[in-house]
Amino acid sequence: MNERLAIAIDGPAGAGKSTVAKLVAEKLSFLYIDTGAMYRALTFSALQQGVNLHDENAMRTLLDTLNIKLVNEKEVSKVLINQEDVTDKIRTNEVNQNVSLASSHQAVREEMVERQRELAKVGEVVLDGRDIGTHVLPNAQLKVFLTASVEERAQRRHEEQVKKGMPSDFEELKADIARRDQFDSTREVSPLRKAEDAEELDTTHLSIEEVVQAIIELAKARIS
Ligand code: C5P
Repeated sequence: MNERLAIAIDGPAGAGKSTVAKLVAEKLSFLYIDTGAMYRALTFSALQQGVNLHDENAMRTLLDTLNIKLVNEKEVSKVLINQEDVTDKIRTNEVNQNVSLASSHQAVREEMVERQRELAKVGEVVLDGRDIGTHVLPNAQLKVFLTASVEERAQRRHEEQVKKGMPSDFEELKADIARRDQFDSTREVSPLRKAEDAEELDTTHLSIEEVVQAIIELAKARIS
C-alpha cells in the first residue's frame, strides 16, 4: 500500500462526508481529519468570546490563541480547544448559522490550511471538507465529491439530531443547508467546488455502507 495515500472527501453540508470519511478511515486504518470541526471550533470560540465574526483580523488573532485538537475515539471524534472538550458545543444551531462567515476570511483559511497540511503530513489520511481536493491536498491520490439533494441532506441531519435527543426543525435545517451551500459555493476564497479529477458520488439513494464501499473500491484501485 502506498504509505502516503491521502483521500480527500469534499461536498456540500449534510452530504454525509464526516460519517463516511470516518468509516473509510477506520476500515483502511487511516487517520481521519475533520476540517469542518476546525472551522466550527473557531466559530464557537468567537461567539463565546464576543469576537466580531465579520472582522478578519480579529478572527485570525483569535485563531492564533486556539490549539484545536481532533481526537479520534471508537465511537466519537472529539474536538478540544485548548484542552476543553467542545465536541457537542460546536454542533449547535448558532454555530451552524455563523460558521460559513467565519470560514470565509482569507487570513483564517490560510492558517487553517497550513494546520491541515501539517496534520496530513503523516500520510494514510482521510480529510473531509470543502476545499480539500481543490486546495488543501491538490495531489491527494483519491478525491471524492459527495452530493445529495437538499431534501435528503436535511432529512439526514434531522434524523441525526432527533437521535441525539437534540431539538430539530426540518424546514429550518433545509433552509440552513441551502443557505450554507450558497455561501460556501460563492465565497471568494477557495469556494466549494468539485476538483476536476474528483470522483463524483451522488448519495441520495445510497446507504452509508454503499458509499463507504464505493470509496474503498476506488481507494483500492488507486493503491494497486
Ligand atoms: O463539514 P461541516 O459542515 O462541519 O463544515 C462546517 C462549515 O465549515 C462549512 O459550512 C464551511 O463553511 C466550513 N468549511 C470550510 N472548509 C472546509 C471545511 C468546512 O470552509 N474545508
